[in-house]
Amino acid sequence: MELLQDSDCCGNGCTNCILDNKPRPSNRVLLAGKRNVILSYTKFRLLRRESLESGSDEQVLLLHFVHVAEEEEQNPDKEDFVLDIPPGHHVMLRVGSLLRPYSPYWSDFLAKEFRILVKLQPDGPMSRHLADVRPGDLLEFRGPIGNYVHDPQKEKCIYIIAQGVAIAPTLPLVRQVLENEEDMSRVWHLVCARNLQHVYFREELLEFAHFWNYKSCLYLPHHQCDTAACQEEGHCDQECPNFQRSLRYKETAKVSRLDASSLASHINSSVPGERILIVAGDSGFQKTMAQLATESLAVDPANVYLL
Ligand SMILES: Cc1cc2nc3c(=O)[nH]c(=O)nc-3n(C[C@H](O)[C@H](O)[C@H](O)COP(=O)(O)OP(=O)(O)OC[C@H]3O[C@@H](n4cnc5c(N)ncnc54)[C@H](O)[C@@H]3O)c2cc1C
Repeated sequence: MELLQDSDCCGNGCTNCILDNKPRPSNRVLLAGKRNVILSYTKFRLLRRESLESGSDEQVLLLHFVHVAEEEEQNPDKEDFVLDIPPGHHVMLRVGSLLRPYSPYWSDFLAKEFRILVKLQPDGPMSRHLADVRPGDLLEFRGPIGNYVHDPQKEKCIYIIAQGVAIAPTLPLVRQVLENEEDMSRVWHLVCARNLQHVYFREELLEFAHFWNYKSCLYLPHHQCDTAACQEEGHCDQECPNFQRSLRYKETAKVSRLDASSLASHINSSVPGERILIVAGDSGFQKTMAQLATESLAVDPANVYLL
């Protein structure tokens, strides 16, 4: 494996810097007896590029990649590789000397494929590059980077707070709990978005809602229907019939920000298990939510994870 150098850091001040998180083989990789293909920069081919509509000028791309085995005929060991990106971990994309981290929301261990959701930033150098990528293009990624580990043997109350597109990396965290019938942990998924049109993966959230140990609440402070009253107010009222009609079965949403008192309403003191908090969003959001939630949900700061 290549040694990490200062130049491997993207300089974005990530909470989990690649330099502080030297990748160690996960239990899954050790059990499979294979090597993780992404431990050093390696090429992935773009299989699918989809532009998601959110009804605004925000540009969001869904990108699906597959690993490209180098000179397959000279590499008879290609079956010895897997792609292991554990939930809550990110990967680094390198284009020339430009490095940016991205958090996969789905990956396939054996097929060596992963997907990311990218919000293009106006005038961002990597955003400019990604706006132009097309299926068939090759890009280099390295990882996995992160320090979150979930122990399914221990019953926990897991609070996951997500902002906008950063809901993407929280999906594998939810799936790993719900897909394990022996995992008695409960998940509270608190999703912050401008309005319903900006809630990504809504269908998947509705599927999660069928599980006994999953609850979600959407916080949509700018949700607005076409009626004169809501247009004048700048957002719908919580009781607005149009807003209520736009919600689906088992979907809970508030036309407000997630603040200290709304966080406290999820405390559920009678539910047993250690409290864990995971926050996914930009650094300002992470800082604010981590501070509010440690107070309102009585989470030990040692159990706070910022993705
Ligand atoms: C651990 C980690 C994981 C990430 N995962 C994803 C991901 O899965 N999908 C994704 O789209 N992005 C993700 N990002 C952000 C991503 O790495 C890039 O910063 C982003 O794609 C913009 O890159 P750029 O070079 O185009 O612009 P930059 O030069 O990085 O930024 C351009 C401008 O946009 C601002 N900006 C950058 N990112 C954000 C943001 N998230 N929210 C608000 N303003 C921002 C910058 O402050 C700057 O003013 C992640 C960041 C970190 C630290």
